[in-house]
Order: sequence, then C-alpha cells, then structure tokens
Amino acid sequence: MQLTDDEIREILRREKRKKRKKQQARRRFISVTLLLIAIAIFAFVKFHPVSEPVPEEEPPRGIIFIDPGHGGSDPGVDNGARYEKDDTLKLGLAVRTYLEGEGFEVHMSRTDDTAVEKAQRAVMANECKAQLMISLHRNQVDGKGEGVEAFIPKLDAKESRLLADNLLNALASQGFAKRTVRAGTLNDPEQDYDEIGGANMPSCLLEVGFISSMEDNTLFDKNLDGNAKAIATAIESTFKTLFEPETESKDSEAASAETPEDAAEDAGSEEASAKEAEKAKG
Ligand SMILES: [Zn+2]
Repeated sequence: MQLTDDEIREILRREKRKKRKKQQARRRFISVTLLLIAIAIFAFVKFHPVSEPVPEEEPPRGIIFIDPGHGGSDPGVDNGARYEKDDTLKLGLAVRTYLEGEGFEVHMSRTDDTAVEKAQRAVMANECKAQLMISLHRNQVDGKGEGVEAFIPKLDAKESRLLADNLLNALASQGFAKRTVRAGTLNDPEQDYDEIGGANMPSCLLEVGFISSMEDNTLFDKNLDGNAKAIATAIESTFKTLFEPETESKDSEAASAETPEDAAEDAGSEEASAKEAEKAKG
C-alpha cells in the first residue's frame, strides 16, 4: 500500500507529538521527585534540629533534706487508727513539692511507708550534701497539750535556731499555737535526737502539733497544703538568709519599708510567750 505525502506528514507529526509528550512526562517526573526531596530535607531539618544546642538544665538553687519521722515498723505516736508516720509522710511529700517549685533539689529519708534507722537519716542528709535538714514529727501528751514545737541539736547553733524560729512562726501563722525552740531533747539539753544529732548542716526536728489534740489534728488535716507551703516558705527564707545574703539584703530592705505591722505582731507574740511562761511557772 502506498502512502500519500499528506499521510506521511501526518504520521511524522504524530511521532513528534508522542515524543514531546514523553519528554514532558519525564520533566514532570523529575520536578515532582525534586520537590519531594526538598520536602523531605525540610522536614528532617525542622524536626531533627541537630545543630541546635541542647538547652542546659539550670543548677538547683540549693539542696534540702526532708525527713518524714518514723515509718514502716515504727509508727511513732498514735491516736486510735491515726499514726504519726503517716502524717509526717503526707506533710513531707507536700513540702517537697513546694520546695521543688522554688528551684530546690530535695532529698528525703523516705517517700513511702519504709522503716529507716533514726541515726541513718542524718547520715543520708550528710551524704546528699544537704544545706538544711528538717525532721517532721507529731507530738503526744496524756491530757491537754497543743501547738508546734521545735528541737535543734544541743550545740544550739544560731543557724539551726533561725531555721526553727522561722518554722514555728510559719506554722503559727496557719493557726497552730506556738510553743518553744529547745536545744537538745525534751528531757536533756545535753542529748540530741538521733535524727538530727549527726547532721552537719543546720537542722531542726519539728513537732507539727499534737496527735493527741483534736484541734491540732483538724488544723493539720484541713490545711495540709497551707501548712506545707508555710514550712517550705520558712525553709526558703532561712536559706536566703544563710546562703543568698545579697538577694536577702535587697529583699529585707524592700520588706522593712512595709513592716511596722510585723514589728507590732512580733512584740505581741513575745508578750504572749512571756505570759505563757508565767502561766507555766504557776
Ligand atoms: Zn516522732
């Protein structure tokens, strides 16, 4: 069969068109591939910022040791089904939360119902290089007795006394009656409580109200968070005074400008404790 010239031209044109379409398809394929590669590179760089420096963790402001008294086979004092070891743990964990919120590294002698040797607690505080230590307890008495009380090691270092004073004032502001700070133990000023006796940092054993007092137990339970915050604030302010003197002096300057009421309050509480002392004598 013979093709006419027109037919031949038509065939050639069709061939050309086919070739052009193929080329276009190849070009499209290449540009889509390049686009996909670009997207992949962008995504990798965006979600794997290898070159960006890892932000360094801020060092802790200080190290605090909290010892929830008793634990495990040692329940401490009790009132019916209520045990001192449970109260001290609850409070200790809450204090830790507040202190961590203020940038402190907090170590504890226990975070659950475990037995820990009394003297071991001071050893643990020394080992973690704590700068302040508090041992939490509840008091008990046959008969009437209420309020917060603190014991410091028999050496009666002024740093430990400052810590204890701040703690009692903080809890008094939460409604607890304020008792005294004593060096040594209740019965012997020449002895130390085992929990704090071996501590080589300012320390205090704090009796957070009487477990034998309904009023104190109500203050303890209804305001657990407020009490924990008050204790943490007392620890923080002691820490500021002892270890952050520059910021402390600035703060106290600012504070002294607005504290004539505080001064009056202090005078009032001194008066009250003088009266109490008189009563105790009588
Ligand atoms: Zn105790």
